[in-house]
Amino acid sequence: MALMTGEQYIESIRKLKMEVYMFGERVENPVDDPILRPSLNSVRMTYDLAQDPQYAELMTVISPYTGEKINRFAHIHQNTEDLKNKVKMQRLCGQKTAACFQRCVGMDAFNAVFSTTFEIDKKYGTKYHENFKKFMNYCADKDLTVDGAMTDPKGDRSKAPHAQEDPDLYLRVVETREDGIVVRGAKAHQTGIINSHEVIVMPTISMGPDDKEFAVSFAVPVDSEGILMIIGRQSCDTRKQEGSELDVGNSEFGGVEALVIFDDVFVPNERIFMNGETEFSGIMVERFAGYHRQSYGGCKVGVGDVLIGAAAVAADYNGAAKASAVKDKLIEMTHLNETLYCCGIACSTEGYPTESGAYMIDLLLANVCKQNVTRFPYEIVRLAEDIAGGLMVTAPSEKDLRDEKIGKYVDKYFRGVADVSTENRLRILRLIENLALGTAAVGYRTESMHGAGSPQAQRIMIARQGNLGFKKELAKSIAKIKE
Ligand code: SF4
Ligand code: FE
Repeated sequence: MALMTGEQYIESIRKLKMEVYMFGERVENPVDDPILRPSLNSVRMTYDLAQDPQYAELMTVISPYTGEKINRFAHIHQNTEDLKNKVKMQRLCGQKTAACFQRCVGMDAFNAVFSTTFEIDKKYGTKYHENFKKFMNYCADKDLTVDGAMTDPKGDRSKAPHAQEDPDLYLRVVETREDGIVVRGAKAHQTGIINSHEVIVMPTISMGPDDKEFAVSFAVPVDSEGILMIIGRQSCDTRKQEGSELDVGNSEFGGVEALVIFDDVFVPNERIFMNGETEFSGIMVERFAGYHRQSYGGCKVGVGDVLIGAAAVAADYNGAAKASAVKDKLIEMTHLNETLYCCGIACSTEGYPTESGAYMIDLLLANVCKQNVTRFPYEIVRLAEDIAGGLMVTAPSEKDLRDEKIGKYVDKYFRGVADVSTENRLRILRLIENLALGTAAVGYRTESMHGAGSPQAQRIMIARQGNLGFKKELAKSIAKIKE
């Protein structure tokens, strides 16, 4: 089947009968909701760019499994070139949306589940890999957006899943039938769930033998019976309801997260990818997290490009662009942003094949990538705010600018260089505000901290992968120590 156009994608999401809630009410039409629509537009960009001849080579690929042209977001990485192209594609999408375009979680889940199911089958003679390939090819062929759901609510962090007072705090199998299983639980902070057709569920941590019912992975359509979604609030979200494009900063694009509840959802046998093989739970988690930590070396860099550009434009508009301090800040922002990109490319270049043939990134470098992402975007934002000046948070509204009586004052006193309109100056400052403090701050700032795992999760992996023993031996050898 041909790839979907952006418009076809929007219409395909409109057809889903999702149960979405926001502000305590059911959202009957999420597609046209002013708060939610920008997030849909961001995913749409992954379809539009695939149709654009200029980007088609980066955005699409011939599936090695079906021979058909598919979107790269549905691709299993076959070599290090694929891994690098993934990062480049994400940077491009970040540049075009200045927001989280959401479709990567499914891509990263695809790759993690592909190799893990292969290894489970090899050990147990199960059919998970075949199940997964069928599902994957179905999604790739129909050009569907797939969400990847990992993060359980986790309740008391000091207790294993089976030891929780409320066992539903980790998603689990509550019933086994001849034709499938019934699952109950929730996944939190689910990026893009309302803009996806299907969701792949994976376990959230390594599990022991007592956690069998929690070691479960599967895929279901997002409008399956029993699934409901509660939208997470974003800073300044209701500004999108006011009807002012200027005041929103980035009126067309955004991201979205939701709490997704699985209230006894049926999963047919052919959609199950893990069911009780607890020792593979940690492997699936580690791979998904690793891929998503690589992803941040692309998407956040693309958004960073927009922010650096916005800061430079703000300096142009107030006449400060030639000041050496401003130039130096822009250099520093660029240096930090490109360092993140280096990490994304490096962990891809050092990738290696798994037993399934799918390529993994270098886990140490991917974790270093994400660890840097927990810091550098904050510094880039700090410098952008420094260059922008206080007006980014004290500027009056568009209504004031357009007002018959007071508009002339806003226009006169907030002008920078004479040949740039006050409106344009306000537009660029609102974009910086959006990225630093508004709805996009979810994706650019706090998600940089906690998305794909909080900083400590990367430090654990860095400790595990850092090979300290080897380094000690190097030192002893150079120091000519004989023990
Ligand atoms: Fe993709 Fe980045 Fe959003 Fe994750 S945070 S889904 S990698 S855009
Ligand atoms: Fe994310």
